[in-house]
Amino acid sequence: MKLVYVDNNATTRVNDEVLEEMLPYFKEYYGNPSSLHAFGSRVAGKIDIARERVANLLGADTSEIVFTSCGTESNNNAIHCSLEANPKKRHVVTTKVEHPAVLNVCRYFGKQGYEVTELSVDKDGMLDLDELRDSIKDNTAIVSIMYANNETGVIFPIEEISKIVKEKGVLFHCDAVQAVGKIPINLRNSYIDLLSLSGHKLHAPKGIGALYIRKGVRIDPLIIGGHQEDNRRSGTENVPYIIGLGKACELAKEFIKEEQMCVKDLRDKLEKGIKDKISHVKIIGENTTRLPNTSNISFEYIEGEAILLLLDMAGIAASSGSACTTGSAEPSHVLQAMGVPPSQSRGAIRFSFSRYNTYDDINYILEKLPPIVKRLRDLSPVFEDSQHATKT
Ligand code: PLP
Repeated sequence: MKLVYVDNNATTRVNDEVLEEMLPYFKEYYGNPSSLHAFGSRVAGKIDIARERVANLLGADTSEIVFTSCGTESNNNAIHCSLEANPKKRHVVTTKVEHPAVLNVCRYFGKQGYEVTELSVDKDGMLDLDELRDSIKDNTAIVSIMYANNETGVIFPIEEISKIVKEKGVLFHCDAVQAVGKIPINLRNSYIDLLSLSGHKLHAPKGIGALYIRKGVRIDPLIIGGHQEDNRRSGTENVPYIIGLGKACELAKEFIKEEQMCVKDLRDKLEKGIKDKISHVKIIGENTTRLPNTSNISFEYIEGEAILLLLDMAGIAASSGSACTTGSAEPSHVLQAMGVPPSQSRGAIRFSFSRYNTYDDINYILEKLPPIVKRLRDLSPVFEDSQHATKT
């Protein structure tokens, strides 16, 4: 059976060149980078190169990159430590559509007595920038807003947002886990103070991430211990994974433009094919700027979980939203915030592409999906009334 993986916002396949660069650092060059002997110094040099590659992808300075274990740790570090650094400021601003790795951190601080403002989005998933401006107060310690949404791919105007936050003199953190490697990011002339990224979203392994901390921003470490990462993140470095992240960033920098054009073409072909072949579908966030690789499509009157199950049986791996909320009976908090009615949000499927997808994959999905939707709608009493209109 053909296998088609279109769940790349959940995680990506490790690139061959990335793996190749990592492998010698398990068995041959296994020194501790803090050791003074050759085993250690050789490894330390490789970490420097990886840091340069990450900084280069972001338009940052090497001194601004701290390696972490994942995007979640980077987000926790940014928010937690900004609040600790500003103990008199007891207000946090974020949005209703953040990943749980930001939203639940803010809500945790809400339970500790902080005031938390969760900004709304409109039906296209966009923020009201006047509402953002008005929400920032004298006691706001940090504003944390994502670059691109993991479920819908909607991209926020981060440069404009960061400028508004900077004008108010408040720290700005951006969860860019879904954006890094997919769209060009240049922090050189930006007002972003802190930015999170994660290796496994850009063809490096799971379990490695980084936090960009702009020069001059002072926050204490989240993980305290030895002197690693210039005292900003203790713990012996995860050398092979850091090297892998560096290589993945180098490849992303080199190929981002042509790769994302190809990926967008695949995405657009799938969306057109689905609209041509299936009735009662809605592309979430269609009218706004989205990541080139992401498509969130709602199939009205049927359950997304049922579609996923049948797609899986046909060898197609997609998702009903964030992998971190899979299994929860609650409709997606992102689609809820966008005001998508339950009849649509329940049948929403996310297809997310990578450099490894092909036109064959799209044709295969377009062959398998319409009969699956028809089969489920035939079983759906809610769909009965609108059956004449369907083209499947
Ligand atoms: N932020 C966003 C927007 C994400 O999509 C994810 C993962 O899906 C994370 C944070 C968490 O990253 P990690 O899995 O590396 O902890």
